[in-house]
Amino acid sequence: MDTKVKELFLNRQAIIATMHKKELVIAPILEKELGISVTIPVNFNTDLFGTFTNEVERAGDQLQAAQKKVEKALKQSNVSIGISSEGSFGPHPFVPYLPYNRELVLLVDQEQELEIVGYIANSNTNYAQKVIKTVEEAYEFAISIGFPTHGVIVKTNPSTRNVDEMVKGITDVNHLHHVLHNLFSKSPDSLYIETDMRALYNPTRMKNIELATIDLVSKISSLCPKCSTPGFEVIKSKKGLECEYCGCQTEIVRSYIYECKKCNYQEEEHYPNGKEYADPAQCPLCNP
Ligand SMILES: [Zn+2]
Ligand SMILES: [Zn+2]
Repeated sequence: MDTKVKELFLNRQAIIATMHKKELVIAPILEKELGISVTIPVNFNTDLFGTFTNEVERAGDQLQAAQKKVEKALKQSNVSIGISSEGSFGPHPFVPYLPYNRELVLLVDQEQELEIVGYIANSNTNYAQKVIKTVEEAYEFAISIGFPTHGVIVKTNPSTRNVDEMVKGITDVNHLHHVLHNLFSKSPDSLYIETDMRALYNPTRMKNIELATIDLVSKISSLCPKCSTPGFEVIKSKKGLECEYCGCQTEIVRSYIYECKKCNYQEEEHYPNGKEYADPAQCPLCNP
């Protein structure tokens, strides 16, 4: 760790706005890398900011929801560093039918007026859902998504918000068996089963939250060369790396633009991939 980064964070207190055990992966990294000590708010209900199962709509976009959680946790405490995490799931932006998980971890430091966000986005997720007509189909689905180490949710239908028609956090075979019989008696034709994406029921998601936290630490450790504020990060990339053979511009990244959020100082990093020219195989003229 940079000594300057250490000076800014060492022995300071932070609060993590979570009730789904995300501190298990976030806290050790931040404690080790920044030297802060992390606590959890008491009686903190993050479900007020939105649930994956739609009982509560999420407040704004992913980052806004994370900001609201931090704001509330900081208000309830007497510390000046707040941390929260927020995930989203859906289809991959380019590859249809491939699931996609985007996680962010936000750090707000009121004392230094900082807001830094770590991200990860990949297809390492078991995000899935299915309409089932039999108990066997339900078991098949559950096994395919990694049950019982990963939890499932069973409902009478996808849009129900009725608590009597939905059971979340199922991680035990007997419990699943019970729930299926009970809900099939209310809805004999079909039921709806899905992966429980809440972090404590989903080790695969927990791993991505960990990766987003590592990204957050690397952004915090990147200090502005001019004013030494943490969070000197890439805000834009420029394409157009020249072809080695014909010199025409390709779609490959030629440089990254870094910017400090505090003093707005910018720096351009040329050839971030370590190559000054593009392979002709990736050139629109040489290899159309
Ligand atoms: Zn700066
Ligand atoms: Zn070329």
